[in-house]
Amino acid sequence: MTFTNALHVASPSTSLQVINERLDLVSVFIEHVELRDRVIQLLKRSHDSQRLVQKFAFGKGDPDDLICLSRAIEASKEVRQVLLDHNRLSVSSNASDLNHSLTIMISRLFLDGPVALADQILAAIDEEGLLQKQRIEDSTAAEAANLAEKVTMDEATSSELGALPKKVRAKKGERTVVADTDSGPLDTWIMRRDASKTLNALHAELERLGDEKTSLTQRLRDSVDSSALSLKWTPGLGHICHVKGAKISQKSLEDLGVTRNVSSTKSTRSFYLPAWTELGVKMDHVKIRIRQEEQTIFDRLRREVILNLVKIRRNAAVMDELDVACSFATLAQEQQMVRPILNDGTCHKIVAGRHPTVKLGLEEQGRSFVSNDCFLGDSERIWLITGPNMAGKSTFLRQNALITILAQVGSFVPAAYAEIGIVDQIFSRIGAADDLFRDQSTFMVEMLETATILKQATPKSFVIMDEVGRGTTPEDGTAVSFACLYHLHNHNQSRVLFATHFHALADMTEDFEKLARYCTDVKDMASGAFSFVHRLRKGVNRQSHALKVAQLAGLPKETLELATRVRQEMRDALPPPRVADEDQP
Ligand code: ATP
Repeated sequence: MTFTNALHVASPSTSLQVINERLDLVSVFIEHVELRDRVIQLLKRSHDSQRLVQKFAFGKGDPDDLICLSRAIEASKEVRQVLLDHNRLSVSSNASDLNHSLTIMISRLFLDGPVALADQILAAIDEEGLLQKQRIEDSTAAEAANLAEKVTMDEATSSELGALPKKVRAKKGERTVVADTDSGPLDTWIMRRDASKTLNALHAELERLGDEKTSLTQRLRDSVDSSALSLKWTPGLGHICHVKGAKISQKSLEDLGVTRNVSSTKSTRSFYLPAWTELGVKMDHVKIRIRQEEQTIFDRLRREVILNLVKIRRNAAVMDELDVACSFATLAQEQQMVRPILNDGTCHKIVAGRHPTVKLGLEEQGRSFVSNDCFLGDSERIWLITGPNMAGKSTFLRQNALITILAQVGSFVPAAYAEIGIVDQIFSRIGAADDLFRDQSTFMVEMLETATILKQATPKSFVIMDEVGRGTTPEDGTAVSFACLYHLHNHNQSRVLFATHFHALADMTEDFEKLARYCTDVKDMASGAFSFVHRLRKGVNRQSHALKVAQLAGLPKETLELATRVRQEMRDALPPPRVADEDQP
């Protein structure tokens, strides 16, 4: 998930009811694994109908898209049936009210028009013909790629060979389609012949002409006494008769009505025959009309798609929501997430919260994640978090923002318990980045984002701010951070998690009534080794342990020794740091 500077997670109209309905749906899919698996299977068969419908609305789309659309419609029809069956069974066994969420989804699926459309599409389009067309296109592409490869291998230098296009070959097991040399390129029809009366009549006519061609061929073969005669069409010559290996006299050709020889070699002879030219032209004409009629049928189907556009889009939205709910349910089970309780208040009560992805990353390395509570609200509206580098401050900030977002989109959350007052926006000031192209230095970006937060955050907002002021001197950084905390505390009154290395802030904000101080630690062992304590505790940790992190990162030994010496000299020059009772671990 990307953190934007300001994320609007709840418009005023986003009601608790909507979120709870989403959570109910997720609960149903957690409770009924079989139902979830069945819906997931159907979702896999469903295509992106939003995108397909969009294509048709812009006058694009092809027969393949129509088939995909019909499958998507059929999938939504089956999903509706599966949900209905589940609800019926559950009613008889007095199942929970959660099924109301399924009833809502069922009632939002509009199928009458779309299902009729899907039936029309499947009745009209010949899927075998489509497949055939695809194979021809594949083999044409393979031929082109082979030629390109040959030319490159013959002429290219070794450095140019790198740009060789990947070979496109017909897939294994697939039949390579060759041109029908007798009658021109193989004719592939994408509509079933009974898709319209006209189309049926045209195909019957083409068949009749095909029979005529067969008898003409036979008659000609008998006349010249050779079975090696064929009637062909070639791109350059048109309709020609071709005989292999036969010695045919000029006289017999004239008897056939041959007007002109095309070519003759010792073993072959090609010539024009008016009877075949006339028949061939008739066949071509019928084929053109078939293509025109197929286009007419396609246009009609496209129009039907557009007429059903709104319903298909609505259904697609329902399928998307089911998809999200099933994924949330799967995730909730895999990650032991809990259902959050949302309310209209302004408190966060998260017990044993976890960062969903950092946890997984650590577990992959055989390490474990330390969960943390987050109680923000009436008495503690701002948590000021200090602690060593690498001890989990940023992770804590982000995990609570993520938990809030997940809860409000209707997902279960990675925690043992979560009660969240619905937030209107989530603001974040994290990371250090510049945008030099737009005349923005690192500190400028930091201040721009901070300004947005201070101007826009409300008492219903959730704010995370990580190391504000790090882009400038400690003195200025502390001053800016203090002023921000003051503004957030007294004006914005939002729920805030504020992580910092400016420990002086803990003292400067002592009289902020609604601000509490929390920290993370480093645990030193007798052996000289140390470990990070990622568990948050009340108090302030004034140690950054930065040199330990620098050592971990592999800074050269002499650099570390110099840094340690310089740090000691600087400390000696300062008054001893103040340590309050609450700072003790
Ligand atoms: P810095 O002040 O240097 O920015 P930080 O205190 O913000 O550090 P994080 O960046 O949040 O620390 O965490 C550093 C690393 O510590 C994470 O990448 C993760 O591996 C580990 N870590 C963070 N939180 C936890 C936790 N709760 N449990 C276990 N490991 C954690």
